[in-house]
Amino acid sequence: MRDSQLFGHVTAEAPGKVNLSLRVGPVRADGYHEVATLYCAVSMYERVTASPREDEAITVSISERSVFSGVDLLDESTGERVPAEIPLDERNLAYRAAALLRDRVRQQREGVLSGPWLGSEPPSYGVDLSLVKNVPVAGGMGGGSADAAATLVACSALWNAGLSKEQLAEIGAELGADVPFALMGGAAAGQGVGDELSPLLHRGTLHLVIAPASVGLSTPGVYRTLDSMREQAGVRAEDPDLDPDLVRAVSQADAETLSALMVNDLQAPAVSQLPELDDLLDLGLSEGAMQGIVSGSGPTVFFLAHDAAHASQLATSLEERAEVWALPVTAPAGGARLLTQKQRSAGGAHAS
Ligand code: ATP
Repeated sequence: MRDSQLFGHVTAEAPGKVNLSLRVGPVRADGYHEVATLYCAVSMYERVTASPREDEAITVSISERSVFSGVDLLDESTGERVPAEIPLDERNLAYRAAALLRDRVRQQREGVLSGPWLGSEPPSYGVDLSLVKNVPVAGGMGGGSADAAATLVACSALWNAGLSKEQLAEIGAELGADVPFALMGGAAAGQGVGDELSPLLHRGTLHLVIAPASVGLSTPGVYRTLDSMREQAGVRAEDPDLDPDLVRAVSQADAETLSALMVNDLQAPAVSQLPELDDLLDLGLSEGAMQGIVSGSGPTVFFLAHDAAHASQLATSLEERAEVWALPVTAPAGGARLLTQKQRSAGGAHAS
C-alpha cells in the first residue's frame, strides 16, 4: 500500500476560554501590557478537520456547521459596525499553526532538530483545514487560538509528527499565549503579557452561562481605550497581581468565593465602546446570576451559576428577556484532543 493511501482526514477540537479575573498593568515600552489573569477553558469547542493534499498548499475554510462564521467589528473611533471577514489566508491562526508545525516537522525529519521519529512520511505536507467555529468570533474567548491549537493536534496526527502536547504548546506559543492554553485546557494563571502560564490543579465543576454579543471588539482597541480612560482619570496603573483567594476558589470550584472575586480591568473600556453590555450584566444579576463580567477584551459576557440546573434556567431567562444567545457551559474544560482519524485504504475510508 502506498503512503498516500494511508493518510486520511483527522479531526481535533480545542476549547474557548474565559478570564475569571483579568488585571491589567501599565503599558510597557514594547506597547504590550503586563497582565495577571486566570484563564479557564469552557466546554465550547472549536473543531478542525485536517485533510491531506497531494501538493504542499495549506487551505482554510469555515464549515457550514459553524455556529459563528463571522462578525461585525465595532470601530472604536467612529462607533460604526464594520463587517469583519475571518481571513482564510496566511493571516488565519489555523493556517499559521499548520505552517509552523510543517516547518518544525520538516526540520526534524531532515535531522536539523533531534526528536522522536515515528512512522512513515506523509505524501506531502499540504493540508485542507476545515474549521467548525462554535466560539464567538472576536469575542474575547480565544476562538482563533483554539483553532490554532486544534490544528496543531490534527496536523501532528496527520503528519505523524510524534510530538507531545508540551512540544506543540511550544510551537503554539509563537502565535500567542492563548494557543498553549487551549492545548492544555483546565485553568491556569497567566502572567507577563499573559504568556507565562502556571496550570492550576483543580477539582469540581463550575457552571457558567456565556452570552456572545452580535458585534466584535478589537483586542488592541480595548487596551487602547483602557489606557486613555486611565490617562483622563489621572489613574496610574499598578503592577497587576492575582488574588490567592481567587486562585484557591477556582482550583476548588468554590463558586461562592469566586463570585466575590471575579474582576476584569478591560470591562470598563469594553462597556464604554458597547454600553448595552452594562444592561446585559445588570439583567443577568437581576435574573439570579451569582456574578457576571465581560470575558477578556469582550464583548462576550459570562455569568456564574450555582449548578447546572441554575445555569440552564438563567440561560433561558436571558434569552427570553434580552435579544441574546445564552449558552450554559461547564468549566474548567479539557484541552485540545484528537477526535477521529480516518485512514484511507485501498478498499476506501474507514474509521480507526
Ligand atoms: P484575541 O485572541 O485577539 O483576544 P478573540 O478571542 O477576541 O481574539 P478571535 O475570534 O480569536 O477573537 O479572533 C479575533 C480576530 O482574529 C478576528 O477578527 C480575525 O480577524 C482574526 N483571526 C485569525 N484567525 C482566526 C480564526 N481562525 N478564527 C477567527 N478569527 C481569526
